[in-house]
Amino acid sequence: RRSSVEALLASQELDREVLVKGWVRTRRGNKYVQFIAVNDGSTINNLQVVADAEKFPEETLKDVATGACVAVRGTLVASQGKGQSVEIQASEIEVLGKADPETYPLQKKGHSLEFLREIAHLRPRTNTFGAVLRLRHALAFAVHQYFNDRGFFYVHTPIITGSDAEGAGQMFRVTTLPDQNPPLNEQGQVDYKEDFFGKATNLTVSGQLEGEVAAMALGKVYTFGPTFRAENSNTARHLAEFWMIEPEMAFYELEDNMGLAEDFLKYLVRYALEKCPADLQFLNDQYDKELLGRLQFIIDNDFQRLTYTEAVEILKSAKQKFEFPVDWGTDLQSEHERYLVEKHFEKPVILTNYPKDIKAFYMKLDEDGRTVRAMDVLFPGIGEIIGGSQREENLEKLQQRMQEMHVPEEELWWYLDLRRFGSAPHSGFGLGFERLVLFVTGMANIRDVIPFPRFPKNAEF
Ligand code: ATP
Ligand code: MG
Ligand code: MG
Ligand code: MG
Repeated sequence: RRSSVEALLASQELDREVLVKGWVRTRRGNKYVQFIAVNDGSTINNLQVVADAEKFPEETLKDVATGACVAVRGTLVASQGKGQSVEIQASEIEVLGKADPETYPLQKKGHSLEFLREIAHLRPRTNTFGAVLRLRHALAFAVHQYFNDRGFFYVHTPIITGSDAEGAGQMFRVTTLPDQNPPLNEQGQVDYKEDFFGKATNLTVSGQLEGEVAAMALGKVYTFGPTFRAENSNTARHLAEFWMIEPEMAFYELEDNMGLAEDFLKYLVRYALEKCPADLQFLNDQYDKELLGRLQFIIDNDFQRLTYTEAVEILKSAKQKFEFPVDWGTDLQSEHERYLVEKHFEKPVILTNYPKDIKAFYMKLDEDGRTVRAMDVLFPGIGEIIGGSQREENLEKLQQRMQEMHVPEEELWWYLDLRRFGSAPHSGFGLGFERLVLFVTGMANIRDVIPFPRFPKNAEF
C-alpha cells in the first residue's frame, strides 16, 4: 500500500517496508550513493530516497531525473541528514513517467512568479504553489465548517442569470446566437428574445439576490461559488473569474453583520495557522517575513469601526499625497483604504454608511437619506476584502432606489416580491475568496492564488 510523504515524515514506526509515489524534485550525490528528493504534494517537505550505487549503478538511475514520476519501495529508516528525521533506503525504483531534463520547464533554480504563470499547468509542482493550493483547500474547508457549525445552510445560486446584481455593467454575456447575421429586432439591435433562454443572459457577478431569496425562507444561508466580472482586472487584486462567499441572514442588522464578518475572518486565519503551519512558515521565509506576524495580528486585534464620512475627514487631513484626491461622495481607492489600515489605525478597518450613489441599489437607506447601511472590511496589503450591507426591506423605498439607479423593475419582480410578502430586516456580505487566500498566503498578486487565473487577454489554460 502506498503511503503519503506527509505520513512517512511524521511516522515513528521505523525499519519497515514502505511504498511511496511522487515526483522527483532533485537528484544529487556521488559515485557511492544518490539522494533523490521526492514530493507527492501531500506536504511542503520532500522525502529523501537513498539509492546505494551497489544496488543502483548510475545507468539504472538515468531516468530518475527532476520532474519524473517514480514509485519507490524500500525501508523507512532514521535519517542522518539534517532537516529530516526519516528517509527511505531504496530497494526498488520504478519510473512511472519520464521527464526530459533538457526540456522540463521547472529547473532546480527558483523561477519568477511571472514565468510560472506562463506554465500554469506545471506550477502546482513547485513548493510555492503546493503551499498556496493546500492553504486554498484548508480555507475553503474552513468556510463550510464555520457556517455548518453555526446553523447556516449552504445554497447553490445560478451561474447564468438575467440580472446584474451590482448594476455595474461588468457582465459577460451568455448566448447561443450565431456570430454571423444574428436575429435583429425592429430597432436593428440583436434580438435576445430569439436566444436560448428567450432573453439576454449573463454570467453571474454575485449570488446575493438569489441568496436573499433563500435567507427569507431558511433564515441563515451562504453561497460559495464562482462569480465573473468583465472589468479591467489588470490589477494585483482583481480577476475576471473569482470565487465569492456570500452569507445572508434574516433578522440581522448592520451591527450583527459586522460582528459576523469580523468573527468569520478571524476564524479563517486561525484555522490556516493551525492546519497549515509548515506551508505558512515556508511562505513567510520565502516571500514575506512579516506574514506570520500579520496573521496573528488579525486574530489579536479588534477591527476599527468608523463611518465613510469620518474616513474622508481623516484622508483629507492626511499628509500623504494620493494619486486620486478624496472628496465626500467619491468611492475610495485601494490607496486610501490601505492608508487607513496600514498608516492611520494600524489595524483592520470596517467602514460603514457610504454615500448611496456609490453603492448598489439594494442597500438600506439611512435616516439622513444620503447614506446607506453599507460596510466594507479593509485589510492590510489588500484594501477591501469584504463588501456587505443591511438590505432595504421596505418595498417603496427599494422601488424608489431602483428608479434612481435605473434598475429595471420588471426583471427583478421576484426580488421585489420578497418585500411584498413577509418582508424582514436582513443583511449579508461578500468575501472574495481569492482576496482571502491572497492575504493568508502573503502572495503579492491575486493571479498566483488561483490555479487558472482569468484576466484580460488570458485564458490559455
Ligand atoms: P473592488 O472595490 O475591490 O473592485 P467591489 O467593491 O467591486 O471590489 P463587491 O461587489 O463589493 O466588490 O464584491 C464583494 C467582494 O468580492 C469584494 O470585497 C472583494 O473581496 C471581491 N471581489 C470583487 N471584485 C473582485 C475581482 N474582480 N476579483 C477578485 N475579487 C473580487
Ligand atoms: Mg470592483
Ligand atoms: Mg469596492
Ligand atoms: Mg464592494
